[in-house]
Amino acid sequence: MIINRNPAKNSEIVSQHEISTTAELDKMLAKSTEAFKSWKLVPAPKRAEYLLKAANIYRARKKELSETLHRENGKPIEEAEGEIQEVIDTFEFFAGEGRRIYGMTGQSEMPGKSIITVREPIGPAVFITAWNFPAAVPSWKAAPCLVSGNTFILKPSELAPLSGKILVDILNETGLPEGVAQVAMGAGDVGSYLIKSPASKIVSVTGSTETGREVATIAAANFKKCALELGGKNAAIVLADADLELVTEGLVWGAYGTAGQRCTSTSRLIIDSKVSKAVVDGLKSKISKLGTSRSYTPIISYKQLVKIDALVKEAIAEGAELICGGEILKHGDRGANPLIEAKSTDEKLAGSNDGYYYAPTILKIKPEMKIARTEVFGPVLSVIEIDAKNFQSKENSKTPHNEAEAILKEALRIANSTDYGLSSSIYTRDINLAMQSASAFESGLVYINAPTIGAECGGASLFGGWKNTGNGSREGGITALDTYTQYKTIAIDYSGRLQRAQID
Ligand code: NDP
Repeated sequence: MIINRNPAKNSEIVSQHEISTTAELDKMLAKSTEAFKSWKLVPAPKRAEYLLKAANIYRARKKELSETLHRENGKPIEEAEGEIQEVIDTFEFFAGEGRRIYGMTGQSEMPGKSIITVREPIGPAVFITAWNFPAAVPSWKAAPCLVSGNTFILKPSELAPLSGKILVDILNETGLPEGVAQVAMGAGDVGSYLIKSPASKIVSVTGSTETGREVATIAAANFKKCALELGGKNAAIVLADADLELVTEGLVWGAYGTAGQRCTSTSRLIIDSKVSKAVVDGLKSKISKLGTSRSYTPIISYKQLVKIDALVKEAIAEGAELICGGEILKHGDRGANPLIEAKSTDEKLAGSNDGYYYAPTILKIKPEMKIARTEVFGPVLSVIEIDAKNFQSKENSKTPHNEAEAILKEALRIANSTDYGLSSSIYTRDINLAMQSASAFESGLVYINAPTIGAECGGASLFGGWKNTGNGSREGGITALDTYTQYKTIAIDYSGRLQRAQID
């Protein structure tokens, strides 16, 4: 049994779910295969109508669904409402795609011959999702999958499974044929079982890089289409000419919004030492009351809470300077927390009224430290200062602009020196330096004068990362269709005679 507790209030059980047995999973896979046979024949504009209906149900129930998401995931109600809005936007955007799903026409080298290429569905998909966006991420996968003519089984994270189940329930409420949209409950082994089955033809995973590697290996061995949206170690670069008020405001949101539990959260600040003190002081003052405010997000689980704390302690032992935070918020900060006081290793213990909170933390670090490369997935910002003195040469000290260019070069080297490549940001008023950064960042998302979070995934942003953050797939925008379709090229020879390509 999965007991889904509110991470802000452990005594509150939000929902309970039976774990799917292998017999049930086999049945789901068979249903998915059967439903695909007729669903793929439904014209795409008709398939799109189900998405529009689902968007309307979400709109009508927005308040209640946001409340449920807020309770199971812990993110503030305003953020939960934003996430439900993203589901609506995603469904509406891909409903529009139902009237396009464009193919191509080629130019034949022979007379009396046409060549067209169409996109066709592939088959049953399996979605494996994380807990941090329990409604939006399943919608990023479900909408392009369904409109393209595939069926799916969603395996949501056992830490926040309800919003994903509701998504499938709402899709079925629109009248989708049985077996088109299903949900399986359980931990990684349930996902793994579905992926290994020869019945599943597409695999789409949002999770850690380790999980992605495991799943991709299985998918590759079976030639399955595989889309990976994985971890990040996102950096914001701040140059001395930046609007510092905008920077601190952006960093509060980027590093501490959702308590740093976004794959795009800002976890490194790479900054010109001339403005470092002003920014760090400004940030410290802005976050001093955040940890105990109502708009602060709890950490999803006890396991994750102690992992964050261990990474911070390890960094300090390696020589990092603790500027603020660096502790689990316990008795006195947010009221008694028997779970933490008792140092229980039980992740979700009944009887405790408090949640898992980690203090907003700032560390000053060196780029070679382990924390500079490790994803923390918590409210921890690591500051790396760049001192112009270390880059003084005749050339770059001639003008302030030359100096800024030299600092930027080093900042970009550090920003790109991790295995991840999801999101990056640059704060400067110099358009040339901003554009040089946009071109040099090794990441799928780049922000200019904005934090690393906040992609508009209702069509405008293509969401996904470079390097170990993924395998080139993109969600949120039109290219999500690439995961769920395969091409078929059809040559029509109406000349009435044999024409031999490349020979006649
Ligand atoms: P995990 O990788 O631990 O889990 C993700 C999902 O994969 C869960 O449903 C999990 O099941 C399942 N899973 C775990 N192991 C396997 C396996 N061997 N085979 C199949 N499924 C498996 O990630 P978290 O849930 O902790 O999420 C945080 C991570 O997700 C971070 O690294 C974050 O950066 C990344 N993320 C990436 C996003 C992106 O778009 N790039 C967006 C959001 C998060 P269960 O947990 O139920 O056991």
